[in-house]
Formats: sequence, structure tokens, C-alpha cells
Amino acid sequence: MKINKITRRRLKKHFIIARVNKDLSVNITIAPHVTKSQIISFLNERKEKINRLIENQRQKNREIENIKDIHKDEILLFGIWKKIVFSSETPFVTDEERIFLPNYMKFYDKVTLMNKVYNLMAEKTFPILLREEEKRTNLKALGLTITKTLSRWGSFNIKDEMKLSSYLVTCPIPVIKYVICHELCHKVHRNHQKNFHKLLAGFYPNSKEYEEILKETGKYIRSFK
Ligand SMILES: [Zn+2]
Repeated sequence: MKINKITRRRLKKHFIIARVNKDLSVNITIAPHVTKSQIISFLNERKEKINRLIENQRQKNREIENIKDIHKDEILLFGIWKKIVFSSETPFVTDEERIFLPNYMKFYDKVTLMNKVYNLMAEKTFPILLREEEKRTNLKALGLTITKTLSRWGSFNIKDEMKLSSYLVTCPIPVIKYVICHELCHKVHRNHQKNFHKLLAGFYPNSKEYEEILKETGKYIRSFK
């Protein structure tokens, strides 16, 4: 077991917490009063459990590597893995199973390529989808910014400005609209309490299915970080 770092912080429930990182090292968080010998005995006691967590992380890493390998020449767009075809004739056009990209993009690494395509596609589609949802819900945003955020799909601030992550283009169109609708509902309720969910459910009764897709897609997207 490789300890990456030990941080002291005021903890609420436990006085030592161990977390496994993506590179399989372990981060330890301890309460201010914890001594060195207490850390050692904690690690000895929890050895098996921590090793199990490391094994789980290793498995997760493997799954992600597998996905990346299977879809080596593809890009996830609107919920479909599209085959990348380099051609300068019809750049950035997509059909059912392919996306045409300009020849110069051949030289980009996969992450750069993904980021460029996602940003472009987001700028092309999000304003149209936003207009559709605004019309349907009768709620309006006063601005739209497309971000490169990996930690959240969208946000809606007090000035009624919406932010959407460009990575949202990896999700199917109905799911993107659902996220936009979620943000628009914040115009009425600035929290995630009961009334907020009631309003959102009025527009999207089958949100559970969409939340599941967002969760799964998010896992994949964050693996590129
Ligand atoms: Zn929200």
C-alpha cells in the first residue's frame, strides 16, 4: 500500500479516513489530534478492507481502459459511439454512425481531439436545445456559457445565466434537454428541494432513467482527466 498524502482536517464522524486514488495510492485524512501510532494501528486493522478498495479501483481502471481500447477510433457523441473519419470535404458533419473531421485533426491526441469536437458540437447544438426547452417550459435563461467543467453538467446563477459543460454532448439529446430543463427550473426554485423536483417532474416524469445515463457517462468522461 502506497500512502500518497496525509491531511489533517476536522472530521465529523470518523477520526481517520482512507481513500484510494485512481493511481491506486491511498490518501489519509485525520482529525487534528490523531497521533502517528494511531494511524499505524488504523492501517494495520483496516489492511484487508483497504486492499479490497485498491482492488476495486484496479478493476474500475481496467474497465475504463477496456472501453477506451474498444472505442479507440470512435468518439462518444449524443449517446452513440461514432466512428471517426478524417476527410476535409465535409468536416464536422455527423451521420448515424460516423463523424467526419478535417484532416489536420489526425495529428491531435485523443483527448485534444475529444475536447475540440465536444466544444464545437456543444456550441452548435446547445443554443438550439435551450430555445426548445425555454419555449416548452416558459422559463427563460438570460445567457448561456459553455464550459469545460468535468465536475458538473450545468448550473444556473442568480442572474439567470446558464452554464453547460461541453461534455454534455456525450449524452443523448433527450438527456441534454433534461439537464437544460433542470437548470431552467432553478429560475423558480433556487435549491433542490421538494418543490424543485415536483416542477422538474412535471416536464420530465422519467428522470430516473436520465439520471442513470448521466451518472454512467460522467464516470467515463472523468476518466480522461
Ligand atoms: Zn440543480
